[in-house]
Amino acid sequence: SVEGSSALLEGLNPRQREAVLYRGPALLIVAGAGSGKTSVLTRRIASLLETREAWPSQVLAITFTNKAAGEMRERVRHLVGHAADGMWISTFHSACVRILRREAEVFGYASGFTIYDSGDQRALLKRIVKQYEADVMGLSVANVGARISKLKNELIDAESFSRDVNLADPKEALFLTIFREYTRTLQAANAFDFDDLIAQTVYLFRAFPHVAEPYRRRFRHILVDEYQDTNHAQYALIRELTKPAPGVPAASLTVVGDSDQSIYAFRGADIRNIIEFEQDFPEATVVLLEQNYRSTQTILDAANAVIANNFDRKPKNLFTAGGAGDKIVGFTGYSGHDEAQFVADEIEQLHRNGMEYREIAVFYRTNAQTRALEEILIRSAVPYRILGGTKFYERAEIKDAMAYLISVANPADALAVRRILNTPKRGIGPATETQLANFAERNGVTFREALRHAAELGFGPKVTKAITALSDLLDEATAMTVPPAEGNAPIPVFDVLALLMQKSGYVDALRASKDPQDEARMENIEELLAVTKEFQRNNPDGLLIDFLTETALVAAADELDDTSGTVSLMTLHTAKGLEFRAVFLTGIEEDLLPHRMSVNEPGGPSEERRLFYVGITRARERLYLSLAMTRNSYGETSVSAPSRFLAEIPGELIDWRQSPGMTGPGAGGRAAGSLGWSSGGVGAGAGQAKPKTEWTNRVTGKVRDNGDLELAIGDRVRHDDFGEGRVQAITGTAAKRIAEVQFDTAGRKRLLVKVAPIVKL
Ligand code: ATP
Ligand code: MG
Repeated sequence: SVEGSSALLEGLNPRQREAVLYRGPALLIVAGAGSGKTSVLTRRIASLLETREAWPSQVLAITFTNKAAGEMRERVRHLVGHAADGMWISTFHSACVRILRREAEVFGYASGFTIYDSGDQRALLKRIVKQYEADVMGLSVANVGARISKLKNELIDAESFSRDVNLADPKEALFLTIFREYTRTLQAANAFDFDDLIAQTVYLFRAFPHVAEPYRRRFRHILVDEYQDTNHAQYALIRELTKPAPGVPAASLTVVGDSDQSIYAFRGADIRNIIEFEQDFPEATVVLLEQNYRSTQTILDAANAVIANNFDRKPKNLFTAGGAGDKIVGFTGYSGHDEAQFVADEIEQLHRNGMEYREIAVFYRTNAQTRALEEILIRSAVPYRILGGTKFYERAEIKDAMAYLISVANPADALAVRRILNTPKRGIGPATETQLANFAERNGVTFREALRHAAELGFGPKVTKAITALSDLLDEATAMTVPPAEGNAPIPVFDVLALLMQKSGYVDALRASKDPQDEARMENIEELLAVTKEFQRNNPDGLLIDFLTETALVAAADELDDTSGTVSLMTLHTAKGLEFRAVFLTGIEEDLLPHRMSVNEPGGPSEERRLFYVGITRARERLYLSLAMTRNSYGETSVSAPSRFLAEIPGELIDWRQSPGMTGPGAGGRAAGSLGWSSGGVGAGAGQAKPKTEWTNRVTGKVRDNGDLELAIGDRVRHDDFGEGRVQAITGTAAKRIAEVQFDTAGRKRLLVKVAPIVKL
């Protein structure tokens, strides 16, 4: 029987078991965070393979990051061995790249197409926006890019957009022109942007049913994790793949998701995909999971209480059979600096008590918040890494090296070839570049092809020689990348890159340079060479194009390395699907969470609340919520208020602490309360002190209000913590008056005069 004696079912609860064993056309698993959705998906695949109901090649599993895909492959491999290898477990993007590399020739693309990342996209749009002087009309690169992305996710291309657009509106007409030009340029460069990867696969399947058919036959079981974050294009792709082929019934579809964790609406994710699943697939079986296996009851109580404030949801309550666990720790710092110090101190404490650094994570809403954190973590010697913040592939020298590789793999990509034309310097100027571009345009050839005709274009002998040498080098490298004959190994990507870097003179130029920056650049090139080595080790048959695909598709969470022994810092968006023993949620303030940009958007605050919910539910044992009363950004100090979401957590779940110098009087004085919460709903726990609305002096217990303290540049002051110092500058007025003070021993500080624990001497 299917149930057999399988070890696969061990430890599963009855509902999880039902989901693993379900056999039928469509299964929807809806469940809250940490209830085992991803685990069940994995076991379901293993169960299908183990019982030989499916071949590995018949399974397509879609995860949200490449890392999640790798993890799932590992888990399946653990359960069924190397049968896992032939299976497609990947993100939407990598599955589509795989399909497009094989099939895109049907609609005029070469299989070596380039994938434009957001930086490339921005660079291209910048050029087009400038060309049409669109910024004068109020069309910025950012908003044009966001709008194009949104349209593509809705499967609206430039041509279908042109049918609905109101051309009487000059701004709309101009947007259409830019959208068309952008599309045309990408096509000419044999390139897809990220959104294209999905949308173009859908177009391909719709326009060429004979291309779609083998995939419909092949994939008998399609499973999608994090279904709540699929956008319309991804939804359409699933619909295309689950259509029956002649003589073959539709594939069996399993989707798992949690509408409370939908956090990508701003990128076109459509929560209706999960809500309407039962209408779309009337035969669907629905399994609900409520038991949580990740977090303590205290953490779940906080999560439940927060998410209950979103009105448009089905009520659902997470529970665990584990205990209540520790209280949540809340912390209010005077500044972002204090907050960071608190985080570092607590991490050290956890570490001393036996928690590994890699079991700890720090989350924030915006990347800008990392600066203060990094500063303190470095000083405290806490090992950490920032996920999604390394930007290795965005560094200029890495972009240069990649442009060499792309010029080899995709000769049509003029952007790449033009980037390396005079890098390193070969005496080829902009006028020469323009002449080459014109030649290409006139003759309908690629820019790279134009290089071959340098001799006909009347350049000086030195320039001609330089161009020809580059052209020959690209040809030589290209010859190394032809797919090898059966049974032969390909020439390693390492060799191709090493040749290009050597013969182009790129590394020589860096080595000869006296600029210390160039030494770091050289190290980065060496790092990239190491990456190619690693790639070849993992993919012995991998070709250059596979390497370029892999590097183009790395997502932030992919950098998570369980063996690294470091604390992980990341944005809340990156944290999705992950879990840690201890989690710090920082910057829980109005304008950060909910983010300033979201509050006036329809659905914005609800989406921010889901983001907070995602953050809370990543924690297994310990949860910390922190905020700062003032923050420095762009050299300005601003005053912040506690996030509205904090008041949604029952007071008795949180143990509040605060910066030295900020203790409120009386037991239960709550730091966050003193930031100016209105009392409604806060501190609801019986016997709790009412939240304070003013800051108080630690020593005297008196309410502090320096509102009318007269201060002038040159005045001496004494601060409770920093000691004595001299006022250097005063900015702002009234409640936002800030004094910059040079302390005798504590250094230079910016203080909010109204509340700082200072007296004038
Ligand atoms: P998220 O919504 O955050 O993606 P999820 O629903 O996918 O969460 P998983 O990541 O699959 O949940 O599981 C959460 C944790 O619970 C994991 O550590 C997993 O190993 C564990 N777990 C799941 N099911 C069980 C079970 N039946 N018994 C014990 N542990 C379990
Ligand atoms: Mg999951």
